[in-house]
Amino acid sequence: MTARTRPDLDLLPAYVPGRSTPGAVKLASNEVADGPLPSVVAAITAAAAGINRYPDTGSTVLATALAARLAVDAAQVVVGNGSVSVCQQLVQATCADGDEVVFAWRSFEAYPILVRVVGAVPVTVPLTAEHGHDLPAMLAAITPRTRLVFVCNPNNPTGTVVRRAELERFLDAVPPEVLVVLDEAYTEFVRDPEVPDGVELARGRANVAVLRTFSKAYGLAGLRVGYTVAPVAVATAVRKVGVPFGVSGIAQAAAVASLDAADELMVRCAELVLERERVRDALVSAGYEVPVSEANFVWLPVGDGALALAQRCADAGVLVRAFAGDGVRVSTGTPAENDAFLAAAT
Ligand SMILES: *Cc1c(COP(=O)(O)O)cnc(C)c1O
Repeated sequence: MTARTRPDLDLLPAYVPGRSTPGAVKLASNEVADGPLPSVVAAITAAAAGINRYPDTGSTVLATALAARLAVDAAQVVVGNGSVSVCQQLVQATCADGDEVVFAWRSFEAYPILVRVVGAVPVTVPLTAEHGHDLPAMLAAITPRTRLVFVCNPNNPTGTVVRRAELERFLDAVPPEVLVVLDEAYTEFVRDPEVPDGVELARGRANVAVLRTFSKAYGLAGLRVGYTVAPVAVATAVRKVGVPFGVSGIAQAAAVASLDAADELMVRCAELVLERERVRDALVSAGYEVPVSEANFVWLPVGDGALALAQRCADAGVLVRAFAGDGVRVSTGTPAENDAFLAAAT
């Protein structure tokens, strides 16, 4: 007989990473195509010389730099091993067995897994016909058991956004004891001026936290660094449930160097946004429905055609992300990569 594990985990789907095949064009995981900047590689190399020591468990230099940039108290910033890790800490810090977490569906596929691992209950609210968050329905889904609400803005995988007025209305109506987490993994790609900066929106609100990452616009997906900006009391609880030394010294140094190179990296984002628009225009011209995207990917809501479309792309050497029965998410790559995708899809 093997050791007994939690039977409820048998029901849990495994996180499905984007596919990776040597030589293929990889547009399945919303990574940026460019490698790290030389200044970031130099910081990584320098930090490598110190890996006989444990890292600073509080990521103090990075948290202080983030706090200064965002004009928040450093006590509000918690750095983690990727923002997924911080996301899990937010669930652990707010939920016990049977508590409820409300989020839109389809949205980031890590949410239901992280919620269930803690023993909490995911409460999903269908997206609107326009593939966006249905905030009034999410508000209506809040019960006395609700401890946390995720709003993914822009939403992964649909690229849709919630705008300032509707989000403020929502935040004003959520009970103050329920934490709202604005997951802004793609915020650097937003061009719609009506989309609020979550950190600004959270100022003065004791139940709103923002989640951000170095994995997307900052190009450090492989190093695993993300963070939350939260009210101090929430941040303190989030720190308590963190794994000690969870963020390596190399990752911390790379993140600090990337912040220093933010201007350069934002130029890359601007170029990517142009490509995103080019890809969307081409798809729309070819007859696809493609919601306006404010992230570094586009969403093709092809329903039952999802797996077949992804296979057609794979046959042409382009890996995209299919969600069976729902649609296909395609990350924006280099112009040549995007052309390869468009040739396969249109
Ligand atoms: C990619 C992504 C993240 C970032 O995850 P990391 O752990 O920081 O790499 C977080 N939230 C959403 C919605 C994402 O798509």
